Amino acid sequence: MVSRRLSLMVVFLCNAVFANISAQKMVAISIDDVPNISLYAQDGYKTLLLDSLEELAIPVAIFINEGLFFDFDDKKVSEQLLERWIESELLTVGTHTFAHTDYSKVGLEVFRDDVIKGMLHSQRLCADAGKTIKYFRFPYNSLGNDSIEQSAIGEVLDSLHLTTTPFTIESSDWMFNAIYEYYIKTDSTEMAAAIGDAYVNATIKNFMWMDSLSIGQYHRHIKQIYLCHDNTINADYLPRIINMLRNQGYLFVSLGDALNDSVYQQQNYYHKKWGISWVYRWMNNEAERKRLMKMAPDGMEYYPVYERLNNTTGY
Ligand SMILES: [Zn+2]
Repeated sequence: MVSRRLSLMVVFLCNAVFANISAQKMVAISIDDVPNISLYAQDGYKTLLLDSLEELAIPVAIFINEGLFFDFDDKKVSEQLLERWIESELLTVGTHTFAHTDYSKVGLEVFRDDVIKGMLHSQRLCADAGKTIKYFRFPYNSLGNDSIEQSAIGEVLDSLHLTTTPFTIESSDWMFNAIYEYYIKTDSTEMAAAIGDAYVNATIKNFMWMDSLSIGQYHRHIKQIYLCHDNTINADYLPRIINMLRNQGYLFVSLGDALNDSVYQQQNYYHKKWGISWVYRWMNNEAERKRLMKMAPDGMEYYPVYERLNNTTGY
C-alpha cells in the first residue's frame, strides 16, 4: 500500500513538473546576416544591436555571411567587429553561406561551395573563442525546389556536420527595416517611430498567433525560434520586443535548448522553395496548411510602401 501510494505520488509529481514545463513559454532568438559591417561603419563602428543584447543578457544565435565581412575595405576593422560577435559569451555561432546564395536557384554544386567558403574565416575565429560552428541557416530559408533537391543538400550538410536551423516565427523585419531606414535618412523622425511601433506590434501579434497554433496542434507551448536580421530597426526595437515578451512570460533559451524540443524531430512535408515557418512545414495536410497561413497576421499592409521605396531609392 505504501509503495502504491509512493508510485501515485511520483506520477502526480511528474505530471506537475510536465504541466509546469509545457506551461512555460520559451523562445530562442536568432539573427541572420551578421555582421552588417556597412551599418556599423555608419554608426562609428559600434555594434549597437550586440551591445543591447549583451545588456539584456539573453542567449542568441547568429548566422554569419562571410561575404559581408569581405565586402568591407578595412579587413582589420571588419575582423575586429566580427570577433566582437563571436567572442560574446551568450552567443551561439552559425553559418549562412558566403554570398547568401539561393539554393533553389544555383543548384547543389555552387551552393555546397558557397557553404564551405562561408565558414573558412569564422571557423578559425570560433576556434580561438572555444566555439564550433554546428548550425546552418539557408538564405531565404530556401531548402530546394522539390524533395529530391531537399534531400541532396541534407546529405551535404550532414557530411559537413551542420544542422539545418529552422524558425517558427518571423515578422518581415527586412521590410519594416527598409522603410524605417528611409525615414531616418530623410529626417522623418515621427514616421520612423511609427514604423518602429508597427514592427513591434506585428512581431508581438505573430508570437500570439504562433502560440495559439502551438496550443491547437500540440496542446502545449513549443519552444519557439524567432528569426530576424542584423539591421537598424532591430538595433533600435528588438530590446523593446524582448522586454514585452519577457513581460508576457517568455523565457529566452539558447538555440540548442530550443532544438531539444521534440517538435523539431518532426518530418518536413513541405517540398517547395519558399521560406515558410517550420510550424507549417510539419503539417501534412496541404489544405489545412494553406488555410492557416492565410489566417496569419503578416503586416503586408506595409509592403506597397516597401515596394515604392525599392523602386525609387534602390533600397
Ligand atoms: Zn539571410
